[in-house]
Amino acid sequence: MAPAWIRETFNGELSLTAKIAIGMTLGLIVGTLFNVLNIEFINEHVVGGLFGMIGKMFVNALKMLVVPLVIFSLICGVAGIGDIRLLGRVGGRAFALYLMTTAIAITLAIFVATVLGPGHGFEMTGVNASGIAAKEAPSVWDVFANIVPTNPINAFANGAMLQIIFYVIVLGIAVLMLGDRSKDFVRGCEYMNELMMKIVEIVMNFAPYGVFCLIAKTFAEQGIDLFIPVLAYVITLVSALFLHLFVTLMLLLWLLARLDPFKFMTKIRPAQIFAFSTASSNATIPITFRCVTQRIGADNSVASFTVPFGATINMDGTAIMQGVATVFLANVYGIELGVFGYLTVIGLAVLASIGTAGVPGVGLVMLTMVLNQVGLPIEGIALILGVDRLMDMIRTVVNITGDAVVSTIVAKQEGKLDVAVFNDPDAGVLTGDELEIDLEAEAALADAARPPHD
Ligand code: ASP
Repeated sequence: MAPAWIRETFNGELSLTAKIAIGMTLGLIVGTLFNVLNIEFINEHVVGGLFGMIGKMFVNALKMLVVPLVIFSLICGVAGIGDIRLLGRVGGRAFALYLMTTAIAITLAIFVATVLGPGHGFEMTGVNASGIAAKEAPSVWDVFANIVPTNPINAFANGAMLQIIFYVIVLGIAVLMLGDRSKDFVRGCEYMNELMMKIVEIVMNFAPYGVFCLIAKTFAEQGIDLFIPVLAYVITLVSALFLHLFVTLMLLLWLLARLDPFKFMTKIRPAQIFAFSTASSNATIPITFRCVTQRIGADNSVASFTVPFGATINMDGTAIMQGVATVFLANVYGIELGVFGYLTVIGLAVLASIGTAGVPGVGLVMLTMVLNQVGLPIEGIALILGVDRLMDMIRTVVNITGDAVVSTIVAKQEGKLDVAVFNDPDAGVLTGDELEIDLEAEAALADAARPPHD
């Protein structure tokens, strides 16, 4: 049977996923066209102005959902977990799997890059390396020490995800300890969680326009000419990213959870499109969470923790970029890294991905640490700067797919995955009806809110 969005597309009403896919394709065409035309007025007022404004509003709207959604869904997750030992098990499993997938990703990247050997015989001409400085690698001890916030309000305000997760889990455990006295609080959080998911649906309905503007802006600004000099790097990177996405991750899903990778891929597609358009795992958290719970069938008690945790500590795509870029630059500069050098890259990329948030361009910052550590010139980054936005978009898709795969595996292994939902092609598909306001209920609410006549 054809996927839900195709059936709906040809039965009349377009499904939301179909509309978003159309927005993306149109964005690609319009953006490329504007790039070729290169008219100053359009570049300034349409691309930089209108598209920039709508795209930013859309990403901001997604970001505004992240912190409240994580807080309320996680409180409900901890309160509803039933057995507190399960929380420790879920955390341990997810952490181990996240580390494992990132380590596999970067090893695969170094292997692919060594075989394809991009960068040999590269001509260094016209490279502007000004303004690129190395960032120090954070110490492992600091990364862990900083997980405990001194001020939770500060952590919420800054969106410091690991601190938020830590604080909310402690809060959730205290809620469980208070037992019956927490009943009303938990009910309130459940309601807030539902409310947040409703806002996710509202924002998702604007996605076709938001995605169109983001993609059109990127492609209008990124000319094909940027890709020609570093084509070998781009081809190697994209090959490694696709290998990890379609082979490693899907194999893991099948081996560890015995689930159909094809069904999984259809269900995670909306989150992948959002990740591609925004280049931010963090901003995509609400959509990844929705896909993992409502389309794939993972229980809130697992997904409310594993999804935001993964968006922060798990960056398979970013790690792959570190590996390919390091080998590429080593070849460009004719420097031999040796086994020890490669092991350093693997260790550092895994560690760096734990300590850094999933936001656009953070991969480049991590790369400065890696290059610094193995003694490669930081200025080399200027070579790949021009193509980084598009590479960022693709690696973010890999990042969030990794988060969803691990969340699904952990949920399945803990008996917290509703297989009927996973197998139902229509589960959680948005049609637009869910945004209709129930007029009778609205009138009743307004009545209840009106002050009584005396
Ligand atoms: N943009 C990526 C993310 O948000 C991080 C990166 O590779 O720059 O996951």
